[in-house]
Amino acid sequence: MTIRACVAGAGGFIGHHMVRYLKAEGYWVRAVDVKPPEFEPTHADEFELLDLREFDNCLKATSGVDEVYQLAADMGGIGYITAFHADVARNNVLINAHMLESSHRQRVGLYFFSSSACIYPTYRQEIPDVTPLKEEHAYPADPEEGYGWEKLYAEKLCQYYLEEGKLRTRIARFHNIYGPLGTYDGGREKAPAAICRKVALTPDGGEVEVWGDGAQTRSFTYIDDCVEGIFRLAHSNHADPLNLGTDELISVDGLVDLICDIAGKKLEKRHDPAMPQGVRGRNSDNGRLREVLGWEPPTPLETGLRHTYRWIESQVQEAGRVPETVAAATVQG
Ligand code: NAD
Repeated sequence: MTIRACVAGAGGFIGHHMVRYLKAEGYWVRAVDVKPPEFEPTHADEFELLDLREFDNCLKATSGVDEVYQLAADMGGIGYITAFHADVARNNVLINAHMLESSHRQRVGLYFFSSSACIYPTYRQEIPDVTPLKEEHAYPADPEEGYGWEKLYAEKLCQYYLEEGKLRTRIARFHNIYGPLGTYDGGREKAPAAICRKVALTPDGGEVEVWGDGAQTRSFTYIDDCVEGIFRLAHSNHADPLNLGTDELISVDGLVDLICDIAGKKLEKRHDPAMPQGVRGRNSDNGRLREVLGWEPPTPLETGLRHTYRWIESQVQEAGRVPETVAAATVQG
């Protein structure tokens, strides 16, 4: 029998890729979002435009499905989530509370929730050479304001629904997901996409703006690994929150250098310490991920960035934003 799934947030980056993954697994998929995917048509059987802050819309979204993948959120890069605490927290708490309750009422068999590394305490992320974050480091809590507090609370909601036998919930804490078909401009884009765009738009020998002093560190996860990890975790027996990330730590300056190498350009970095840069260092401890799933994201950063850079470069070229001399210099290699 065909399994039926609802992917919430399927107009967004991870949701769109999740739909593709589930279709390849033979699922029937209902995609839901307030907007269609930006860069290519959905692969879903059904696409519903619904605002999931409304409970009745959540009831529609979750009716007649076996599994729910809850990837809808008001979110963006560090500039966006640090600027709009009230909107982000309110919108997301409404979506998550209503999606959980509607999934319970519609007797959904499996509920996946997309949490974030932003739930980890700021006090564990104060130096670039940071100790990788283990799942139990979430408490005592001191998450990212707004977005991070809401995620941590939504994890708790999932736990309560599970403990009371209302819903079989699974939770992943994503660490910086990147890849093709993700937002790369407009203010909601994340560091890898923003840097790929800036490098693609800058002629060889030019200058690229970097937020902060560039010494802040992160690890990044390629999108194909993310959706595979979601599927593996959702169908595992592990109910506690689990990191879904890589432990390949790199500084933001290192990320710029890597993307410049991929682009075949030599660019100067212009640091802007006034721009938001988030925590000083963040890495994933994958010990439990390996133990629970016998798997971890296999794609090396350089490989994933090559795919991402090529896609963003082709997007900015298509949009006619690259002067011809830059386009000529960047299409080779
Ligand atoms: P995204 O912004 O591309 O996708 C989120 C989607 O949710 C958007 O298409 C948006 O329109 C939709 N949405 C927002 N409000 C809605 C509403 N009221 N009703 C219906 N849909 C609504 O983000 P993404 O990167 O694909 O993230 C997916 C999930 O993963 C989110 O829960 C996010 O918090 C989480 N996450 C992502 C990352 C990352 O690096 N991308 C890291 C940690 C956690």
